Amino acid sequence: MTNREVTVRIAPSPTGYLHVGTGRTAIFNYLFAKKHAGKFRIRIEDTDVERSDASLVEPILNALRWLGCEWDGEVIYQSRRFDLYRQYVEKLLESGHGYRCFCTPAELEAERNLAMAEKRAPKYSRKCLRMSQDEVRKRVERGDKFAIRLRIPDGETSYDDMVLGLLTRKNEDLEDFVAARSDGTPTYNFAVVIDDHDMEITHIVRGNDHVTNTFKQIHLYHAFGWDVPRFGHTPLILRPDKQKVSKRLGDKDVAAYQKEGILPEAMFNYLCMLGWSPKNDREIYSTQELIDIFDSANFNPSNAVFDEEKLVSFNKAHIMKKSDHDLAVLVAPMLVDAGLTTKYWLETRWEYLRMVISLLKERVRRVTDFVSLGGYFFFFDYSYDSNAEAEQFTPEAAELLSVLAERFASLTEFSHASTEAALTGLAEERGVKKAKLIHPTRLAVSGITVGPGLYDLLVALTQPVVVERMKKAVDSIRARHKL
Ligand code: GLU
Repeated sequence: MTNREVTVRIAPSPTGYLHVGTGRTAIFNYLFAKKHAGKFRIRIEDTDVERSDASLVEPILNALRWLGCEWDGEVIYQSRRFDLYRQYVEKLLESGHGYRCFCTPAELEAERNLAMAEKRAPKYSRKCLRMSQDEVRKRVERGDKFAIRLRIPDGETSYDDMVLGLLTRKNEDLEDFVAARSDGTPTYNFAVVIDDHDMEITHIVRGNDHVTNTFKQIHLYHAFGWDVPRFGHTPLILRPDKQKVSKRLGDKDVAAYQKEGILPEAMFNYLCMLGWSPKNDREIYSTQELIDIFDSANFNPSNAVFDEEKLVSFNKAHIMKKSDHDLAVLVAPMLVDAGLTTKYWLETRWEYLRMVISLLKERVRRVTDFVSLGGYFFFFDYSYDSNAEAEQFTPEAAELLSVLAERFASLTEFSHASTEAALTGLAEERGVKKAKLIHPTRLAVSGITVGPGLYDLLVALTQPVVVERMKKAVDSIRARHKL
């Protein structure tokens, strides 16, 4: 196996959108593949007809693409491989590693209940393993339904987990599990082994809730005489209340974070740090840097807690690393979607957008903040923050704003220095604090109370826009106070 090209995979089940746990497993496998110049493949585990929803596949693939986990080769769908599984079920029977089980669900249920009553771990009794060949033949000829079970040998099984180290389990703790159901469909453990072998998977990194499955799967590899891949089981991602992250508890899927303005590189970086560590204090890495330093020896076996605040702080750091141009590419469609401007308006004003980005960059934590904090750069019909309006748009402010608007209008050069001088001059003349002018002016030109430094903001908006907005604010204050 050592000479085989490293090949890993992610195997999502389309029973929900891509959640952060599967996203992180994808990232670990992707990094492992890149690190070893190997392949990262994808398989959709959609054999559970009841729970799988084909319409979820595309969103899952999109979320993986968004994260930056591009896969190699075609997407494999388990639901299209039933013929393959059937062939291997036959082989299992032929080799004697598998046997037919005619037990009905009611019989199995009764066995389970008895075990519980006697305080034993429920385990299949091997009743059908002891059935004579004649009896088996008779039952098959009679058309009785049967499942195929794998016969687990005596003894114990060990493997060296890439994360958890050497693990050993007594075989008697595993039951002869069902490989194929009585309707001929394969079980999860069976299909996974056939596919991982067929796809030439060399390493399997997945959540530690699969450790028991791994022992079962190893027995299937042995039954078929195949090389066993290397397994690594990463800790689970927990919610802040220490429960396992789960859609049922209302946890968001990867695409929801995208909609809420998280950058894919921030998500990639943050998820990677949950359960893996570069073994130093640095936390912020680009995807390429992570590929360069990734080492599977540095998985951390303890469970990790998903902290959205921390993710947002990673996001902020990644926003600061991104160029204004690249951020503008992301923000432009958001502004259009929010109805604040049009694609055509932006097309001829790319420099303006870039400048707005650079002015706001230090203040945003999510990409969507560019829209919520910067809409007024594109949209004139904003309303004023109502608390600030009540407090700052006083009759006195109307008078001051109207004079300041005239002074701004008469400036021959509209710059940081000249607007500041005009504002300071007026404050001194009237013997009022500068704040008396600064706050109403900001509210007048932006509608909100937070933003870039006022003079930078004025220059960015341009002289005619500033003057017009201030006059409009004066009219609004006068109307409000019936002046
Ligand atoms: N479909 C399984 C899951 O989503 C994949 C497990 C595996 O990687 O083998 O948990």
